[in-house]
Order: sequence, then C-alpha cells, then structure tokens
Amino acid sequence: MTPQTAVETGTMTGKQHIELVEHNAAHNYHPLPIVVAKAEGVWVEDVEGKRYMDMLAAYSAVNFGHCHPELIAVAKEQLDRVTLTSRAFHNDQLGPLCKELAEYCGMEAILPMNTGAEAVETAIKTARKWGYTFKGVPDGKAKIICCEDNFHGRTTTIVSFSTDPTCRAGFGPFTPGFEIIKYGDIDALENAIDDNTVGFLVEPIQGEAGILVPPPDYLRRVRELCSKKKVLLILDEIQSGLGRTGRTLCCDHDGVKPDILILGKALGGGIMPISAIVSSREILSVFHPGEHGSTFGGNPLACAIARKVVQILKTNKYQDNARDMGEYLFGKLRTIRTDKVKEIRGRGLWVGIEFHPAAGVARDYCKRLMNEGMLCKDTHEQTMRLAPPLCITKDEIDWAFERLEKVLT
Ligand SMILES: *Cc1c(COP(=O)(O)O)cnc(C)c1O
Repeated sequence: MTPQTAVETGTMTGKQHIELVEHNAAHNYHPLPIVVAKAEGVWVEDVEGKRYMDMLAAYSAVNFGHCHPELIAVAKEQLDRVTLTSRAFHNDQLGPLCKELAEYCGMEAILPMNTGAEAVETAIKTARKWGYTFKGVPDGKAKIICCEDNFHGRTTTIVSFSTDPTCRAGFGPFTPGFEIIKYGDIDALENAIDDNTVGFLVEPIQGEAGILVPPPDYLRRVRELCSKKKVLLILDEIQSGLGRTGRTLCCDHDGVKPDILILGKALGGGIMPISAIVSSREILSVFHPGEHGSTFGGNPLACAIARKVVQILKTNKYQDNARDMGEYLFGKLRTIRTDKVKEIRGRGLWVGIEFHPAAGVARDYCKRLMNEGMLCKDTHEQTMRLAPPLCITKDEIDWAFERLEKVLT
C-alpha cells in the first residue's frame, strides 16, 4: 500500500508514522522509534500490536496509569456537559477544585493554568509582584534565585535561567532578574540572598538533571533561611509531586511547606493539561483582573479531572504503592553486579541509573530495553530514568527487573 493510501485508510505501519513526523513536524524531540496506538495501566501497545511496559509515564503525567477508569469516566461525563467557558464566566468545576486542591495541599488558594511552564511563569510573576507589594523591593529590581541544572520548562523567560546550553543556544536575548547558584548548597543560597531577593525557585529533587537528590537536611534549611530572610520558597513539584516519591509531595518527606507550590503533569490525570500554583490568599492577592490569565486556564473539563485526581490521591493508594514498590525495586537494583553503572539514586518510584562514561550513553541502553519490551528515557547522556505509572505491581517490577538485569550486565 502506498503511504498516501495508508494515511487515508488508517493502516499505516510504525515506520510510515515515523516518516510522517520526520517530514512534517519540527525536530524538537528525538523519540525512540515506537508508535503507540493504545494503552492501559503500565502497558502501551504499538500500531503493530506489540506490547511494552511504560517506564516513563509521560514524565510522570500518567502517575495513576494509562486510561485510569475513574478518570476516564469523569472526563467522558464532563465532555457531555460543558468543556470550556473561559474565565469570562464562572463554571461549576473551578470553585470546587480550588477549594479541594488548596485544602489538600494545606494551603488557601490556587491559580490554575494549563502547562507546567505556564505555572512556573505564574510563580515568577507572583513572586515579583509580591516583592514590590509586600517587601518594598524597588520597581524592576526583583531577583529570583534558581539552581544549576534546573529544569522548569521551555519558555523564553524560563530558559533564561537554564544552565543547559542546548536549552538556551540561539534563543536570546534572555530575561534578566535571575541568579543561579549550586543545587544542594545552603551556604550558596545564604550568600546569594540580598534585599531585592523575592523568591528561591527550586525542585525538591532535580528530575531532568538525572534524579539528583539533595543532602538530607537541605530543604528544611532552605525553608528556615527563606522564612528568616523574607524570601518566598517556590517549590516546583510538577514532576516530583502527586505521589511519585512515595508521598503526596516530595517536600512532605522533610515536613516542609513552600510559600508557592507549583503543580502540573499528573494533576491532569494524563488526560488534560492542567497546572496550578497553590499558595496563600495574601500572596495570590497580588493579582487583579487583567493582570494574568489563560483562555483554557481553569476550564471545566480539566478541573473535573483534577478534582478526581485529588480524590484518588486522598486514598493514599498510589503514594503507598510508590513507596513500597520503590523500595522493592531499589532493593533488587542494588543486587545487580555490573561495572557499567556509576550510581543508582532516587526516591519512591523515581530512579536514576547513571552509567560510567566508558559504558556508553544511556540512550543505547534505552534502545536495548525497548527491544526487550520496556520503554525508558535517557536524560543528560549518561543517566537513564525509571518512572513507571504508580499502579505498577510486584510481578510487573519483577518482569522489568529481569530485562534491566539482562541489559545492565
Ligand atoms: C515537566 C516540567 C516542567 C514543565 O512542564 P510542561 O508541562 O512541560 O511545560 C517544569 N518543571 C518541572 C520540574 C518539570 O518536570
């Protein structure tokens, strides 16, 4: 069949699908050569009917598993009622979500957006305006401190404080107002804070950097320092939050509460993009009508799904499974005897396996695992990340471990 006929009849091969993307889409990604046609739980199936275990979970956006029946049911029901009003009018899902999500996070109010990057942008605008309104920072002088090797998204402002050359090269001029310090270093933070510092934006575990876990008392000391110096602690839990590390939020491990919490990814149940910043009424009082927003932000379809996500989280089923299966997986990984691996690190069901440079790049291991029926993603050349949906069972971990052991040794 010619490719054109195949497109029209919906009978394309995986190879033909990939060719279409190659020819007709910008090359801003380098995906593994698999074309997914359907999925359920931790499993995906390609257009030719071959099954794979999904060990990436869309960068933690499908924490509750592909096509979670309760989430799909809520989405279908909401699709038949109303999907979009814009914030020009109220809708009957937004108010309940605001209350339920804020209370669940132990905070007071939220500002909903769509993508993670938009929520990070929202946090930046909030912190700046808070600095001018409540801290007396001179207009245009607000400073936000960020960390080396951070990942907070892809907008022009956010790549302005990235230290990854690939993210930045060719995209300047960049937004001023950011200072970059070493991650995990409390003295660096203390030295960087000055009178104009309005916020410290940080990931509790650096995901894209390769699942980098900071020293044990880091977050607690960051919290103390930010409170003492009147600097907003802005935690980006877009990837670390909502069950991934074995607790609802990664900062729960340290008993730390941020001033601004940034959520995204799993908040939309892998169905709709929805993100939010969660904070206090006072901090969010900096916004007045017209100063910020998004056409799709707070739409009833995404809100209905996010409300169900909060309900599901309240059972603690996924957090507990992430903790238990995470411990089980780490225990097994520690038994692997290989000279290829430099370090295995992480928390809950979030694992970074860093290879020695001499052992080759992580992408080659991901390709070999794909041939074994398991999908993972490399990050920063030498590290492979494992982040399966949090519904994964012990048998499925055993299945994954067999393949990992084979490829790693
Ligand atoms: C994915 C991610 C973002 C960006 O979210 P998008 O929805 O891709 O814009 C921001 N911060 C962290 C920590 C992330 O993992």
